[in-house]
Amino acid sequence: MDENKYTFENEEYRRAYWNTCSRVMAQAVKRLWPEAKLADGGADDEGWHYDIFTADTVTADDLEKIEAEMKKICKERIQTEDLELSKADALEIMKDEPFKQELINDMPEGAAVKFCRQGDFTDMLEGPHLNSTGRVKANAFRLNDSSASYWKGDAKRESLQRIYGIAFPKKDELEEWLERQEEARRRDHRRIGKEMRLFMTDDLVGRGLPMFLPRGYTIWRELENYIRDKEIRNGYQHVLTPCIGTVNLYKTSGHWDHYKDNMFPEMVVDDESYVLRPMNCPHHMMIYASRPRSYRDLPLRIGEIAHDFRYEASGTLKGIERGRHFCQNDAHLFVTPEQIKDEISNVCDMILDTYKDFGITDYRCVLSLRDPDDKEKYHDDDEMWNKAESALREVLRELNIDFTEEIGEAAFYGPKLDVNVQPAVGAEYTLSTCQLDFCLPAKFDLKYIDADGKEQQPVVLHRAILGSLDRFMAYLIEETMGNFPTWLAPVQAKILTVTDSAAYFAESVRSMLENAGVRAEIDGRNETIGKKIRESTMEKDAYMLVVGERDVENNTVSVRTRAGEDLGAMSPEDFREKIIEEIRTHAR
Ligand code: ZN
Repeated sequence: MDENKYTFENEEYRRAYWNTCSRVMAQAVKRLWPEAKLADGGADDEGWHYDIFTADTVTADDLEKIEAEMKKICKERIQTEDLELSKADALEIMKDEPFKQELINDMPEGAAVKFCRQGDFTDMLEGPHLNSTGRVKANAFRLNDSSASYWKGDAKRESLQRIYGIAFPKKDELEEWLERQEEARRRDHRRIGKEMRLFMTDDLVGRGLPMFLPRGYTIWRELENYIRDKEIRNGYQHVLTPCIGTVNLYKTSGHWDHYKDNMFPEMVVDDESYVLRPMNCPHHMMIYASRPRSYRDLPLRIGEIAHDFRYEASGTLKGIERGRHFCQNDAHLFVTPEQIKDEISNVCDMILDTYKDFGITDYRCVLSLRDPDDKEKYHDDDEMWNKAESALREVLRELNIDFTEEIGEAAFYGPKLDVNVQPAVGAEYTLSTCQLDFCLPAKFDLKYIDADGKEQQPVVLHRAILGSLDRFMAYLIEETMGNFPTWLAPVQAKILTVTDSAAYFAESVRSMLENAGVRAEIDGRNETIGKKIRESTMEKDAYMLVVGERDVENNTVSVRTRAGEDLGAMSPEDFREKIIEEIRTHAR
């Protein structure tokens, strides 16, 4: 390990740095509150954390005190030293730390227990660390959060305080990180969604179960119409299937074996076991299998905006970005082997066309392959995998699509093409996917009669373009900061009256726009026009039409954009033509 290489490009160094930070923090806590008990901590993916047991909740003031003490410890430049002790000696050293004692007792008999000594402070050691507290830059760390946690993640055990920290080798890197945090906070879809009244959550309904409010559902409906119409133009047929199915259905598909941990537990009704479905493939397979199919029926493209449920750990739930219920823009294409290439090509065209409409330019294509050594996770059939992986690779090459290959990212039943987008803040995620599957058609014994009258097995393509509608909406909110393009804006024209005498005229403008398919509302409250403009701006209405006495006389509306631009007075009819054209072309 090269400790002089002051960069976090090196993962081991980053872990060592954050491990040392966590120990400096633990030492600071013990100096400030000697009666506090240390549980467990260390580097994680986004900094470090340490769980401690204290009588009181850790406050923001406490975090400041701990930070100040940590700075002292860094400046004291305390050398760190590794020790290895027997379990008996380890228990003696940790005699005042019941949580550490429990960890030691959990270790196998005869195990050597590793410690790190840091001056008068000794902590159990896991992973690499720096050789002196002086190597932690005293001006480049921050304790950024604290929350309640349970010892060993068990709600029946002691309640602890988890403190989170982040550190960098340079001060300006910390500042950059803080700026990114602030940007993420400004764009956070949960905050914007609440301000714009798009969706809500309530623990009484259930964690991870967001509910869309009228304005949010308006956007949802536009997205649904957009993608369904595009699919219809591309030869898709849509179905509606229940979001529950028997366990046997998922045993047949293989999901029960490979996907059970992500599903809600089974429920028994009339001696039959059911599950909430995590995905829709089995239902669509059954629709295909419900009647004899000929090669003339293929390709058969079955689409559904389908409700699914997956178990997600409560710590990973995030607004509508990651919930336990979501809606997939799903489809299954049943094709002959000869049709694979054209169908994948058509899916790629639809994806790229959609991205153009939404202005998505920062994306990359990934060919996700299985990990051949992981027999647990993937359907076990080497020949099938080799055939599917090379078929997909070949098609991508022929289509001249740039892609990288990633091992171990495939679905359990086959390889896939994922299109990953990079949001304005946060990590990239898979938006669209197209998966090649020789496995489910065999499990469901799907057949078609070929031109020679022989029975053949179709190939299935699973594909999603907008992915989960919920998550896509979260993405759009964060990209646009709620300033949706006019065609998606929940309110496309807000008519603001200056005086009560404009009320009748305002209503005539509203109903004219509504008849033309424009979502228009009136703010006729007895408030100042300044206040009405401010509120409309905050709710991100696409246009404001101010109507005062003079507008009534001249048959005009004074048009403003939410960005504050004054487009001047125009006739309501001219405004109608302008906004209809904008909506029709999906202008951004
Ligand atoms: Zn599927």
